[in-house]
Amino acid sequence: MGSTRVFEINPDEIDQKAIDEAAALLLDGELVAFPTETVYGLGGLGLNPASASKIYEAKGRPSDNPLILHIHDFQQIHVLANGVPVEALHAAERFWPGPLTIVLAKKAFVPDATTGGLDTVAIRMPNHPVSLALLEAVGEPLAAPSANLSGKPSPTRAEHVMEDLEGVIAGVIDGGPTVIGVESTVVDFAHGKPIILRKGSISKEALNEVIPGIEDATSNHVHHSPGTRYRHYSPNARITILPADEKETLALLQKEMNAGTRIGWIGPVCPDPDRMTWSFLANDADAYAKEFFSLLREMDRQQVQHIVVEPVDEVGVGAAVMDRMRKAAGI
Ligand code: AMP
Ligand code: MG
Repeated sequence: MGSTRVFEINPDEIDQKAIDEAAALLLDGELVAFPTETVYGLGGLGLNPASASKIYEAKGRPSDNPLILHIHDFQQIHVLANGVPVEALHAAERFWPGPLTIVLAKKAFVPDATTGGLDTVAIRMPNHPVSLALLEAVGEPLAAPSANLSGKPSPTRAEHVMEDLEGVIAGVIDGGPTVIGVESTVVDFAHGKPIILRKGSISKEALNEVIPGIEDATSNHVHHSPGTRYRHYSPNARITILPADEKETLALLQKEMNAGTRIGWIGPVCPDPDRMTWSFLANDADAYAKEFFSLLREMDRQQVQHIVVEPVDEVGVGAAVMDRMRKAAGI
């Protein structure tokens, strides 16, 4: 395919002409990646099966892994979904625009190409001036999965999108690094009691204030969220999460380094900064969320073969960070 146009748009000073140009590409059925507050999304017309298929093709995404529809107007929930439970409306009122995706029973016209054949639809209103301006200019919902090749770490900068999709998609809006860095929290309201299908920066504790007793998905719910089955967030290197028994791991790493393996370390304290590629991260969950995917890509650029990550406490966004870390490590 041809070249990928880059639109630089400062989120604090929206360039409407650039937004309109990007919107015109989307309305022509092309794909344009854009920043949200979580990660960069790969935008395409969400109600147009041809655009949805292009998204799957560009990402190499399995066709049964459904897409999230992004909206800018609260009322669009009722256009896309049937019989919306009041708890879902309360959650949307409380957390939108923001990193919460709600799964609801879909209206018949929402194409199977978008929902991966499910009878539910996932909806979110992103909290980013560029996303909202683009959605308004397009005037209809955009499907926008993370703008990476399937299986790779999600993109938190326009450069990451270009690394994976340059020449494959029509455009990317560069609005700088994303603020949160992990994908939205996904909550299923379509099968009775609301369940968290994917952890994100809106924590279980925060959701519990609006939906008392909300729980995380168990293996019984996997069929409600097919995407969770696939390999995710994987750099080229192997990943180890530093276990409680640190000594044994360190001895193993010394052996590997002696044999010439390139070791990368992500965390606040590196045991051997002279011989390891060290990416400093203060022991705070927000910083981990913001930088984790980017550091995985950086480690690949530095040809690291084995990455060791120090864990964070599983509270607030820390729970989502540990979920991504485990998936990246293939656990
Ligand atoms: P991504 O946009 O790449 O972060 O992935 C979207 C996530 O939302 C995947 O984990 C999907 O499984 C989930 N998702 C999208 N639509 C639905 C749906 N209708 N039901 C359940 N999960 C969904
Ligand atoms: Mg993704």
